[in-house]
Amino acid sequence: MRSPDPRALTRELLAFNTINPPGMERACARHLGRLLENAGFTTAYHEFADSRTSLIARIGGDGARAPICFTGHIDTVPLGAAKWTRDAFAGETDGDRVYGRGSTDMKGGVAAFVCAALELAPRLGRGPGLVLVITAGEEIGCEGARFLADHDLLGRAGAIVVAEPTANYPYVGHKGLAWFEVETRGVTAHGSMPEVGENAIVKLAQAIGDLEHFHFPVESHPVMGKPTYNVGTIRGGLNTNSVPDEARFTLDTRSVPGIDHAHLCRSLEQLLAPRGARVRKIVDTPPLYTEPENEWVQQVFELCTPLLGERPTPKTITFSTDGADLKRGFHGAPAVILGPGEPQLAHQTDEWCSMTRIEQSVALFRDLMLRWVA
Ligand SMILES: [Zn+2]
Repeated sequence: MRSPDPRALTRELLAFNTINPPGMERACARHLGRLLENAGFTTAYHEFADSRTSLIARIGGDGARAPICFTGHIDTVPLGAAKWTRDAFAGETDGDRVYGRGSTDMKGGVAAFVCAALELAPRLGRGPGLVLVITAGEEIGCEGARFLADHDLLGRAGAIVVAEPTANYPYVGHKGLAWFEVETRGVTAHGSMPEVGENAIVKLAQAIGDLEHFHFPVESHPVMGKPTYNVGTIRGGLNTNSVPDEARFTLDTRSVPGIDHAHLCRSLEQLLAPRGARVRKIVDTPPLYTEPENEWVQQVFELCTPLLGERPTPKTITFSTDGADLKRGFHGAPAVILGPGEPQLAHQTDEWCSMTRIEQSVALFRDLMLRWVA
């Protein structure tokens, strides 16, 4: 069989418009599923909503040891307000670059592990095997991965590679993501008679001021650093000459291991209760972390060393991934985030990925797969 070409596959995947919202990943998932089925993989499709399709593809598995998992999402973020100078879906190339929405985040990464898997398929049939988890709906709250974990559809994995953009540097985790919506209520009245109303915006402003007294139960993590929060949006009021009876802000908190998101929600509720504020969790992705001393993580570091020119040091990445939900679904398997995209190009106008990096990922992923089944 001719070796599959990861550059060509990246361009094929870019041609599927999987901008989320609405996502509509089904056609892209089916395309990958067909390629993998033809190489001997068994596939299963799981939809958390209509056309929101994740794919699980498996090969081998002798029951003694769990397979190794490679994972990536096929949805992308919207194009943004700025005009692109390149076609976002045509897979335009220029020198070493392939342009398009999702090239770096992360269709290049998906193409890399799918090509490594297709090439090695004949050798993966025996031994612990390989499982590929290709998800829908990552960009808005990891919906696809959460669905797979919540419904116990993942089975087993002994290690997880999340092929998100890291310029082929292996990261041992990322912070958790807990987003909250805080709402205050008031009583509306004519703007000329504020004394008969109750102003929801004023209450909300006071609630935001109260955040100064908010403390995380864990102040810092040795590798991840400090947890953070940011007020991201604020909304309230319908017109200038009315007392607003409703106002909201959203809060983006980034947590470190040891911080429980349900507990975080309760402490916010307690802090803001005097303002009559209602707190609702809107996005919940736990932190992802694997101890760098883990034997398999050390093996990943060793394999990446020649490419990077030095042995990697334990670091975590700033964005969050499906890895957190998948680690939960796979009952705590060690995980690294390692993929060909450039992290700073994710979600950018004129997003591109280096095709050399994609080829390097294929080689790294092949080595990781072979070591696992050896
Ligand atoms: Zn991504």
